[in-house]
Amino acid sequence: MSDVEVTVIVNDESVEPKLKTVHGLSLLIEAYGRVILFDLGPSSEALQHNAYLLNVDLSLVDALVISHLHSDHVGGAPYLGWVAPSTTSYLPYATGCNFAQYIKRNGLNPVEVLDWTQIYPGIHISKSIHGPPWEQSLIVETPSGNILFTGCCHPGLGTFVSEVERKVGKIRAVIGGLHLSRAPISIVEKTAIYLLGKKILSVPLHCSGRELLEYLSKANPSLIIKAGAGSQITL
Ligand SMILES: [Zn+2]
Ligand SMILES: [Zn+2]
Repeated sequence: MSDVEVTVIVNDESVEPKLKTVHGLSLLIEAYGRVILFDLGPSSEALQHNAYLLNVDLSLVDALVISHLHSDHVGGAPYLGWVAPSTTSYLPYATGCNFAQYIKRNGLNPVEVLDWTQIYPGIHISKSIHGPPWEQSLIVETPSGNILFTGCCHPGLGTFVSEVERKVGKIRAVIGGLHLSRAPISIVEKTAIYLLGKKILSVPLHCSGRELLEYLSKANPSLIIKAGAGSQITL
């Protein structure tokens, strides 16, 4: 099995007019027979509404991975706890008691990730890197290279890519927030050139901004996928 299926449940932009479009991120990832929810979006309302319209059954989620503790990534915990109680929820390093209690209060089972962790065969959580805040990424191995999932990428994309390639090898695709929506154009261009040079396919979401998408679309359309809430992507 090599295909990785990603459904964008919550995002700042949508490809489906009926979906709620809110600042935040939540991705459903299906790989190696496992179902992983990567981040929760800003609210239960957005998560529930969009999951329902997309026919996504969150009771089937095997594990939750929280990239970092910003509110636009953690707000949907009450809904997930309601539909999938006791789900193992992997939290980034230095989470603190208050947030772990919040996860617990909502019926989920918090586990703080202290270092690189393989949660299932072929599926890893990176060690957290300080942005601020501490942020972890999710990596799914495929025969043609690794897929990197990022929440906001506060520590910087290059920092994550180097750490992931050091530990698990070549990245062929990155999907998620890249934190470039308010970055100077010189930084956006630097990031685009970096991605093009490494031939990494990008699926920029959430806080990535339009400039990166436009730059990559012109430079090499085969290395970019335009997506939003409602997109289903096979990688
Ligand atoms: Zn964010
Ligand atoms: Zn953030």
